[in-house]
Amino acid sequence: MRITVYSNDGSSSRQVADKLTNKLINNGFTMDAQTPEVVISVGGDGTLLSAFHRYADALDQIRFIGVHTGHLGFYTDWRDFEVDDLVVALQEDLGQSISYPLLEVKITYADTNEVQHFLALNEVTLRRYAATLRTDVYIKENFFESFRGDGLCVSTPTGSTAYGKSIGGAVLHPRLEAMQLTEIASINNRVYRTLAAPIVLPSDEWLLLRPSRTSDYVVTIDQFTFKDRPIESMQFKIAKERIQFARYRHTHFWDRVEDAFIGSKHEI
Ligand code: NAP
Repeated sequence: MRITVYSNDGSSSRQVADKLTNKLINNGFTMDAQTPEVVISVGGDGTLLSAFHRYADALDQIRFIGVHTGHLGFYTDWRDFEVDDLVVALQEDLGQSISYPLLEVKITYADTNEVQHFLALNEVTLRRYAATLRTDVYIKENFFESFRGDGLCVSTPTGSTAYGKSIGGAVLHPRLEAMQLTEIASINNRVYRTLAAPIVLPSDEWLLLRPSRTSDYVVTIDQFTFKDRPIESMQFKIAKERIQFARYRHTHFWDRVEDAFIGSKHEI
């Protein structure tokens, strides 16, 4: 099995990554950062996001594993003190995996008509800081609303516990084949009107944003930020690609949510 260990720059993550790499080599695994079959990220959910983008062009050949150096995360099933157990699980690997949906965004720029495609694991946002964002929103071919406010966020089910949750989106179970549109500070008054609630779309529908002709947009795709290009349109759909995780153990999704966001167990 070809494995690579992908760590963030923190000293504790580097230490765990070095320890894990040595144990893997001593147990006969091949370390291969170019064409890995398994990518082990060491850090947090943010590190797993970075690892995903590093290997996004080979998703069909790769299973990911997340080792967290802090609390248990949403993409990270292993804690840093469990590297011995992880090596044993890899030795006994039978190819077990679970996969989750990704978001595909197609951005068409107004200045050059250039088209760019990106995959997102958490979410894509369109924002404007200098002035109000104005964009028409279409669902499939149909005009839905004219949005005014700070921005819009489209998230995957696994991204729904990240930025989407902070702006009032629902937490979606990752088995759902869906994407969620959440507003960021919409203006709603007698003149301007939006739904003012998150919406969840199924896999056979797509979203289209047609923003007003200006260039001071900020687009984020997971941890990446792109600025200051005039955007003709942004089309969102559930990608045909999925992210696969090697699954040697199962944490119930709602236990993970409870642990991350609620913590104290007080039954009435
Ligand atoms: P960051 O600003 O350094 O960290 C953002 C936080 O979001 C970290 O605590 C990270 O967990 C957590 N996180 C990432 N993905 C998550 C998920 N799917 N579910 C629950 N929590 C998640 O940025 P980063 O580490 O590069 O990650 C980029 C992501 O941060 C973006 O995709 C966005 O979703 C999120 N973000 C959230 C806010 C907000 O909620 N106001 C603002 C900016 C960015 P770890 O500590 O385990 O890495």
